[in-house]
Amino acid sequence: MKYLVLLLVAVAGIWWLRQQRRPDHPSSRPPSGPHTMVACTQCGVHVPEAEAVPGQRGTYCSEAHRQRHEG
Ligand SMILES: [Zn+2]
Repeated sequence: MKYLVLLLVAVAGIWWLRQQRRPDHPSSRPPSGPHTMVACTQCGVHVPEAEAVPGQRGTYCSEAHRQRHEG
């Protein structure tokens, strides 16, 4: 009987912790981690790596700068 009470307390504690943590970790919140920034070879502006335009001589902030630098 003593172990049954301990088990109930443990389950209740885990349930309570999950209830408390839920507002801190909403699944709908978009990820906002740090992005890797790269510098444009033409103008030096830093842009996120995902938005950078890769070129033969480096990465660029836009297609226009890639063409101006390489063309
Ligand atoms: Zn640029």
